[in-house]
Amino acid sequence: MPSPTPQSATGGTTAKQVRYLFVTGGVVSSIGKGITSASLGRLLRNRGFKVAMLKLDPYINVDAGTMNPYQHGECFVTDDGAETDLDLGHYERFVDIELTREASVTTGSVYGAVIQKERRGDYLGGTVQVIPHVTNEIKERIVGLGKSTDADIVLAEVGGTVGDIEGLPFLEAIRQMKRDAGTGNVLYIHVTLIPAVGPWNEVKTKPTQHSVMRLREVGIAPDVLVCRTGRPINKEQKEKIALFCDVDADAVIEARDADTIYEIPLVFEEEGFSDLVVRRLGLPVTEPRTSTWREIVERIVHPTKDVEIAVVGKYIQNGDAYISIAESLGHAGILHDARVRLRWIDSEEIQSVADAKARIEGCSGLVVCPGFGARGIEGKIAAVQFARESGLPFLGICLGMQMAVIEFARNVCGLVDANTTETSPETPHPVIDLMLEQADVSDKGATMRLGLCPCTVTPGTLAHTVYGTTDITERHRHRYEFNNAYREQLANAGLRFSGVHPEKDLVEIIEVAGHPYFIACQFHPEFKSRPDRAHPLFAGLIDAALTYQAK
Ligand code: GLN
Repeated sequence: MPSPTPQSATGGTTAKQVRYLFVTGGVVSSIGKGITSASLGRLLRNRGFKVAMLKLDPYINVDAGTMNPYQHGECFVTDDGAETDLDLGHYERFVDIELTREASVTTGSVYGAVIQKERRGDYLGGTVQVIPHVTNEIKERIVGLGKSTDADIVLAEVGGTVGDIEGLPFLEAIRQMKRDAGTGNVLYIHVTLIPAVGPWNEVKTKPTQHSVMRLREVGIAPDVLVCRTGRPINKEQKEKIALFCDVDADAVIEARDADTIYEIPLVFEEEGFSDLVVRRLGLPVTEPRTSTWREIVERIVHPTKDVEIAVVGKYIQNGDAYISIAESLGHAGILHDARVRLRWIDSEEIQSVADAKARIEGCSGLVVCPGFGARGIEGKIAAVQFARESGLPFLGICLGMQMAVIEFARNVCGLVDANTTETSPETPHPVIDLMLEQADVSDKGATMRLGLCPCTVTPGTLAHTVYGTTDITERHRHRYEFNNAYREQLANAGLRFSGVHPEKDLVEIIEVAGHPYFIACQFHPEFKSRPDRAHPLFAGLIDAALTYQAK
């Protein structure tokens, strides 16, 4: 890796000068700041730089763990158990890094820390204010991440849209960063929309001008504009945007819609985005090295096979609610050279096993999603039953595993009213029950079993075949667990406990012997999948689905 560390005049290495990139968004929400940040992070990594990524989220929740997936999309869990925004998933998948809780900074966590310091007396005598106390706290987090990761570049995405009231302290903090870190070491990247309107699909630059004006009002002059557009923007239009928004014409980056999000880094490279960034930051202009990524995209765009997978969940109206699961299935498709089409099925609508069959018909595999609460769980159980009885490849995740256990207990062991105490505290057969360590927990935020846990895989099982190892670690997010009081009874009836926590003896993976692919896990494998390293459980599912389809 080329070292971008500046050399001192005497030949010794001076302290590393960290560069900062700030990504903001304008015009509309969901404009693609996350994918923009992740893609740029990847390109800079490809050029040999050590990139740290973080998201500054203006909402007042301390973390994303207490937010409804309908509104906010998936809650992404890091190795160290932080419940974060789904954009962190994009960062991990694109840049191929493991993030920590340091990568997620929310208004709630910032104010929480400031108030704690105030109570402790850290500001004794002072009046605690947004500027400088809150902004200092934000800047400390940004700078701190650069230090703890020894990064060359810290890339921070500001959530929300320029002009939002709650985003102001973050914008003020990143404005100040230019003074703190030195003008040449900070770049502001603004993601904006270039709509095409009217019968002639005229490209309109006005919303971008207005959004840049909002940014200037708070003292930030963008250096680069990333223009989301459905139609190519020509040279004249780029020059017009450059003139009105006061950026250089080569700093107007066209981000045209792509077939797959994984194409965006290549679109950016073509536009000279990462080249511009390293030049502007005074970093060595190294090789872009995009060949590995190009291969990934080539496999996504031109697969030779095609397979459809049913995904049963209750938040299917928001495509972002299960985004890591969808991405992981795609990664497994990349591995097996297959386009994986997803059929989203609302678990609340499944009325019976026959109904599950009718809805799943034509699919070659089934995923039953994680979830909380009672809504839709009987539909999930019916879908599992159909997969178990018909030999349809099945992967159950977290609640999906719990539903598989209940289905097995009811329909194979004859424990007709078997259930989870999460939704049925009075059940005579609590095959899924609250974990012991959860008994005294009353707060909802950050109190689940969270983050990386070890798991020992039993040799000779399906889990062992797909993982190819006996020692794994996976990320968790749950309160309930398999009830070990039922272990023997279910094992005798053919349920295999193929992955167990080495010390706590918690059941982490189950499978049904004799079925081509029936496996479920208490953890979330979807958080660890990468486009070029499909997660074993998803890879196994797609492999089995292709075999199933061939029959
Ligand atoms: N609601 C279940 C539990 O808390 C499952 C959680 C999940 O699917 N993430 O154990």
